[in-house]
Amino acid sequence: MISINSNYQKLKANYLFPAINERVRNFVDTQPKTDIIRLGIGDVTKPLPAACRSAMKAAIDEMGTVEGFHGYGPEQGYSWLRETIAYHDFQSRGCDISSDEIFISDGSKCDCSNMLDILSKNNSIAVTDPVYPVYIDSNVMAGHTGDISSEGYYEGLTYLPITADNNFIASLPKKKIDIIYLCFPNNPTGAIATKSHLEEWVNYALKHGSLILFDAAYEAFIQDPDLPHSIFDINGARQCAIEFRSFSKTAGFTGTRCAFSVIPKDITGINHEGNKVKIWDLWMRRQSTKFNGVSYIVQRGAEAIYSAEGQKEIKQLINFYMTNATIIYKELEKVGFNIYGGQHAPYVWVKNPVGQTSWDFFDHLLKQANVVGTPGSGFGKAGEGYLRLSAFNSRINVETAMNRITSMY
Ligand code: PLP
Repeated sequence: MISINSNYQKLKANYLFPAINERVRNFVDTQPKTDIIRLGIGDVTKPLPAACRSAMKAAIDEMGTVEGFHGYGPEQGYSWLRETIAYHDFQSRGCDISSDEIFISDGSKCDCSNMLDILSKNNSIAVTDPVYPVYIDSNVMAGHTGDISSEGYYEGLTYLPITADNNFIASLPKKKIDIIYLCFPNNPTGAIATKSHLEEWVNYALKHGSLILFDAAYEAFIQDPDLPHSIFDINGARQCAIEFRSFSKTAGFTGTRCAFSVIPKDITGINHEGNKVKIWDLWMRRQSTKFNGVSYIVQRGAEAIYSAEGQKEIKQLINFYMTNATIIYKELEKVGFNIYGGQHAPYVWVKNPVGQTSWDFFDHLLKQANVVGTPGSGFGKAGEGYLRLSAFNSRINVETAMNRITSMY
């Protein structure tokens, strides 16, 4: 008999979205004519930009010719895409990142999980509470945690609460932590960090020799040019941070799949003999062995995001979702709700106005307004009492949902 990776058995059942679907199904069974509006989803709703589609169609035609055919590509991604990204997203903003520090991938979810392949289980790890659940579950699977406690916390992880009291920005840990996950703009709370917040984290990491895993999947939603768009806007981050970026939400690539990680060559870790090793070398080795790159066609589609037409189209996409977020924010504010996020992120984090649990709030909105949100407690204990509403929907659905909710109050 083979033995399995028993770490998987430590995982808490992934009950959040099945539980939401079950409650919605049960409700619809009793009220079959109900028009349910789902503001719980974290997936985009608008189609792919025309610039990306034309580039991908042209790439398919190229692939049908002997001269234009592409087989296995470079595991790190084509240099023309990496150079475009390095220039547009980093160098043009004054960040010192070179194209060979960019690794193209099929998603940030995979990148932030796969990164654990090259990190030892001896590192101490901190995540925020609430949090994007992948950071926790991938560490559990890799055997970097103990069992889950009756309160729902994994042994061996440090949880940094993010609440209204700290403006949803985690305070620096009192003790030394080796690996810290940060996500800005934040999923689920919609919070954004200022430059001085990130400077505190970079200084902490430099002082303790820590590594920051910085998830910037929602970077494109930042509305204020003075806010940091990248951890590499901060001096010293080259020595202590890896950044994850994705085209999923930026350009409607959730089903097309393309993302990238930025791994500066300055970051080092210590091996079992106490010698310094470059993280870049390990990740390159990992990708060359376990990954065969993103398809040529998709990389051409991603490159087109940076064309003049592509930039115009993605600005329209982001503006559309951010207008939805503003409508949600303003309408709920009018009826006196406590609301957070939604200004530099497609998520609005809503406090239960009558002080019950997240699930009570969920049921209340489902039954009274036929609107579905995502219970904040599903992202961690400190999310209890909140609901996440997403701006990824049609304008008419967002407006109708807000009319229904506000007329209840
Ligand atoms: N990081 C965060 C914070 C997310 O919310 C998501 C998707 O919802 C991802 C990463 C995953 O992105 P990708 O589609 O590139 O895998």
